[in-house]
Amino acid sequence: MFFFDAHCDTAMRLVGETPVDLGERLPDGHVDIPRMEKGGVGAQVFACWVDPDLAAGRWMPRTLEAAAAVRAQARRHGDRLEIARSGTDIARIRAGGRIAAVIGVEGGHVLGNDPAAGLVSLYEAGVRCVTLTWTSSNAIANSGDGERLHGGLSTAGREAVREMARLGIVADLSHASDETTLDAIEAAGPVLVSHSGMRSLCDIPRNLGDRVLREVAGAGGIACVNFFPAFLDKSCHTAVFEVWDRYRAERRELAARYGGDPGRADGELLPRYLEQLARIPLPGLPAVADHIEHAASVAGTGHVGIGSDFDGIMLVPPGLEDVSRMQALAAELGRRGWSGEEVAAVAGENLLRLFSEVCG
Ligand SMILES: [Zn+2]
Repeated sequence: MFFFDAHCDTAMRLVGETPVDLGERLPDGHVDIPRMEKGGVGAQVFACWVDPDLAAGRWMPRTLEAAAAVRAQARRHGDRLEIARSGTDIARIRAGGRIAAVIGVEGGHVLGNDPAAGLVSLYEAGVRCVTLTWTSSNAIANSGDGERLHGGLSTAGREAVREMARLGIVADLSHASDETTLDAIEAAGPVLVSHSGMRSLCDIPRNLGDRVLREVAGAGGIACVNFFPAFLDKSCHTAVFEVWDRYRAERRELAARYGGDPGRADGELLPRYLEQLARIPLPGLPAVADHIEHAASVAGTGHVGIGSDFDGIMLVPPGLEDVSRMQALAAELGRRGWSGEEVAAVAGENLLRLFSEVCG
């Protein structure tokens, strides 16, 4: 079964002080080439995410550095991994039995005050998918978790989304507010929601509500289900974010003391907070399948996909511990009575169709 995962944060493991190489089975984390091969992941979006807490002048350089690191992995492991710049590329790479790496960017804040110029730089760096916001609102769009700076998309945001459609970059609305998502559909047509849970099963702003989900599907878009346990179950969310919010606040304070370097703060803070997170009971693989089934019941199986968020989530659902476990999800849907064709659509064919439509 061909899987196309719409979101992981593994690109950020390729940069920084201790960069990893994806060619060998890594002792930690969730994604590397051997585990993608084992899990049947034939296409993967590698999102370049830059922390808004980092000094603003470093956002774009850091993004381009991460994109270059993904390209370097493809050069080093060209017999197993290749950068895909279009749907045609993905199909060709897949036919050759290799993994298609799609470069993404998570967070429109990196575009700064001149989104059009920023988008051209990203496109030239191979980026084919941009998530308009992360957890805070920015110059182009409101985040679902952020301040209401605009109605949804700002005027610059509307222009940015049109420019993305013109260039052939998929607009990704995970993290975005409902209004932002609806505005983006109006400006761009088919959009991606790369890694979100379903609000009907876990009612938090970060997740996707049925009304917006119907609009995404109606415009030919794809909504992909996130594996993060805290987005699958409300009580898990409450417990996890009680810890997480304290961590972010303490991290911001420490980062300021270290001259705007949150990475240095993590070394001190993470072990203590991870220990607290490890005590929280987690929903497992069946909960991921529940969210997929709900999305399919609202949007149709032709408009649903998966976006693991691997290497960006500190907790994983038991049964889907890393990317090598992907086929277990296909088996679970099969057990629930899904046809092979329906499972294949959600596993990867739907996303391939969207990227082909937008990127050529
Ligand atoms: Zn995210």
